[in-house]
Order: sequence, then C-alpha cells, then structure tokens
Amino acid sequence: MVQNTQTGTGDTVREATGEQVGREFYAAYLYLSMSGYFDAANLPGFALWMRKQYEEETQHALKLFDSLLDRGTRVQLSPIEPPPSSFRSPLDAFERALEHEKEVTAHIHELYDLALQEKDYPSKVLLDWFVQEQVEEEKSATEIVERLKMAGEDGAALLMLDKELGERP
Ligand code: MG
Repeated sequence: MVQNTQTGTGDTVREATGEQVGREFYAAYLYLSMSGYFDAANLPGFALWMRKQYEEETQHALKLFDSLLDRGTRVQLSPIEPPPSSFRSPLDAFERALEHEKEVTAHIHELYDLALQEKDYPSKVLLDWFVQEQVEEEKSATEIVERLKMAGEDGAALLMLDKELGERP
C-alpha cells in the first residue's frame, strides 16, 4: 500500500513498484538461504556467489524504495515469506534460482507495461535498468545451470566450478 504526497500520473505503477520492493527482498532472502546451503555442503565458492547475489538483490530493493521516496511516495513494507532452506543438489538450487529470476522478469515486465499505460516516464526510465538487469540475471543463472548439468556426478568438475564462482568480484 502506498500513499502519494505527489499525485498525478503513475499511481498504479508506483503502488506495484512498492510490492516489487518486497519481491526483491524475498529474492535476497532466497539467495542468503542458498548461500547457507552451499556453505554447509562445503562449496565455499558457490556460497560466496550466492552471498554476493543476496547483496545485489538488497540493492535492487533499495533502488526501487529510494526511487519511490524521491517522488514523495510512502511505502508500506509487506512481510517477507520464509525461503526454502534445503535443496536436493547444487543443480536443484540453481534451477530454483533461475525459476525465481524468470518470475521476477515477468513482474518487471508487468510494471513496465503499467508505466507505459500511465505515461509515467520516471518509472519507465527506472525500469529500463531493471529490464536489462533481468537479462543479465537470467543469463548468469542459466550458464551455471548448464555447467552443473555438464558436471553431473563428476566431483572434480564441481570443485572447479566452485573455485571459479568463488572468484566473483
Ligand atoms: Mg533483483
């Protein structure tokens, strides 16, 4: 729920953007949970990659939150669902991460449609960044899913991938 002190165009898209703040925090929570799973599985590179992802998602949430504040929109934050904490395998975790990113992409595209319908140009410009970011998110998750499939049951290949992911800046 949002309260606009600045009325006019984009009321619906701004309300929906407030809901997206919660989804970005859920994504952060999901990746933090996955980071814990990988840490317990003795895969520190995967754990670090997920921890960085957690930080990125927090930044996404704040970017949306701050943009609403900049426009005089009050945001009522909603509760965050608990994420899953156990996964069958590294591949299972990354497949779920990819699935989640696809859902986020669909929501971002809905927001984009609303921004265009309401001729809310500041929202459109903000969302341009998110549309592009989602392309990157899906690309990197897909790459890792594919490489985990290639590694299969090969422990050495998994450790090599772990080392590589641990070098994420
Ligand atoms: Mg995000």
